[in-house]
Amino acid sequence: MTVADFRFFTLEVVRTLRVGHSFLRVTFGGESLADFRSGGYDQSLSLFLPPPHREHTRLPSTDEDTWFAAWRAMPDEERPVMRSYTVREQRGTGTDTVELDIDFVRHGTGTSAADAADSPASSWAGRALPGHRIQAIGPAVAQNKSVRFQPPAGTDALVMYADETALPAAAAILERLPEGRRVTAWFEVPHADDRLALRTPADADITWIVREEGAGRERTERLLEVVRAAELPAAEAPYAWVAGEAGTIRAVRRHLVKERSLDRRAVRFTGYWRLGASEEELLAEAYAGRAPSEEPTAEL
Ligand SMILES: Cc1cc2nc3c(=O)[nH]c(=O)nc-3n(C[C@H](O)[C@H](O)[C@H](O)COP(=O)(O)OP(=O)(O)OC[C@H]3O[C@@H](n4cnc5c(N)ncnc54)[C@H](O)[C@@H]3O)c2cc1C
Repeated sequence: MTVADFRFFTLEVVRTLRVGHSFLRVTFGGESLADFRSGGYDQSLSLFLPPPHREHTRLPSTDEDTWFAAWRAMPDEERPVMRSYTVREQRGTGTDTVELDIDFVRHGTGTSAADAADSPASSWAGRALPGHRIQAIGPAVAQNKSVRFQPPAGTDALVMYADETALPAAAAILERLPEGRRVTAWFEVPHADDRLALRTPADADITWIVREEGAGRERTERLLEVVRAAELPAAEAPYAWVAGEAGTIRAVRRHLVKERSLDRRAVRFTGYWRLGASEEELLAEAYAGRAPSEEPTAEL
């Protein structure tokens, strides 16, 4: 019998904590998490978040063959939104007191009805209270395809770019790297106090790019200026992990492949969101012409 890599879990809010200016850390618990197996690194999961007038998410079906059609058939005003997030940390794996931390970027203020409609996940995080329950499709085995950080054996240096949405993933990756691994990283955040303290055994050279300090500049242009000016350590087999806003990460990949001559197969880049498009719109594009995957994310 094969074990399904992904399944539904019920996540109950245990507490919330403001981290930096832009992040709200939501810690989840719940009995079903005893079977949750994060693969670490940039492990993502799909959250189903209730509309503002509901405290809990209740999907009509969590059966692997019928959930998608049943979810799609819900009336618009009742249908939970599906959004991709990262497991920042899992504690207590395999016990009955598992906790998961997820760091939500609070984009928009999330306080008005318009925000709730425009950015439902960010806005849900702002309303989250202990005892609220949501549902998620997450990993039941640690080796799963939602861990995208997969440097080949022999990798001798890492190049990383993350914006604030990918900073939780970058932080989790840094914590797990081998001691002394050379890393050159650029992390772009909205505010100076989003420069979170990061722990790593690696030999990491981290440059923070604070967007509020470059007000008025086109974001990708300013970033590329910093990236171009950086010196990368000589390496035989570098691997790059690039995640964040879709247009920005394309520009970073182009720079790494065209101007730095990195092998394009050694650049793992993942769009976490796209300026001007909700995850619904991205999912609709992703689904056009193909069946939903078990752990659907809006790969851009
Ligand atoms: C694999 C993966 C892992 C991710 N992990 C995380 C994570 O750990 N933490 C996290 O915060 N996000 C994470 N994201 C990104 C998150 O899924 C998106 O930001 C998502 O769009 C947020 O949903 P929403 O309902 O708040 O906004 P949506 O309804 O999807 O979008 C509404 C509007 O807001 C804009 N928008 C979306 N996100 C942002 C943003 N951060 N800043 C400014 N404008 C934005 C959109 O372009 C759109 O115009 C991840 C995405 C992927 C694919």
